[in-house]
Amino acid sequence: MLLSIMVLGGLALIFGAILGYAAVRFKVEGNPVVERINDILPQSQCGRCGYLGCRPYAEAILKGEADINLCAPGGEATMLELAKLLDRSPQQLVEVEETPPSLAVIDENLCIGCTLCVQACPVDAIVGAVKLMHTVIAKQCTGCGLCLPPCPVDCIVMQPLPQPLSAWRHPYPIQMLKVEKKVA
Ligand code: SF4
Ligand code: SF4
Ligand code: SF4
Repeated sequence: MLLSIMVLGGLALIFGAILGYAAVRFKVEGNPVVERINDILPQSQCGRCGYLGCRPYAEAILKGEADINLCAPGGEATMLELAKLLDRSPQQLVEVEETPPSLAVIDENLCIGCTLCVQACPVDAIVGAVKLMHTVIAKQCTGCGLCLPPCPVDCIVMQPLPQPLSAWRHPYPIQMLKVEKKVA
């Protein structure tokens, strides 16, 4: 009897340890489909889709609460990738005008160091000290333009980034997208 209890106890310990290890080793962080949708989005965190950033928009898409055509910075290419991933029909972008990639630049001579742009930047791309000059970290800036409206002295401008010729493409007519989807 005692031996049986010891064997069963030992087995319970072994299986418990295996299950504990598996739970840690194969833990799934969040929803993997949300991750894949989020990876497709441009990470500008600009809020132009009507959500507080790319991840909330990705979550809304997966829940079926948002269409796939709300991300203007991502443009048609992003919408098409989302349609392919989620097996949904391509849609005309809600904001038809796509924003060309650009970079915020601060005129450091005019900046009064109010820090309002720092508070507006969703990706912490602006540095500076109170009442002193501020500047944009070019590598961090997503070109969302959210820092422009709060600046009281209008010393921030958006500079378009040079695009290689290979980046140009003819806009894809939405009717053709629908036909292509039906054929596929
Ligand atoms: S519009 Fe696009 S880039 Fe901007 S927050 Fe929404 S998903 Fe992100
Ligand atoms: S610096 Fe301005 S344009 Fe660049 S990411 Fe921040 S808020 Fe957007
Ligand atoms: S909002 Fe304008 S003035 Fe204020 S710190 Fe930013 S760039 Fe300078």
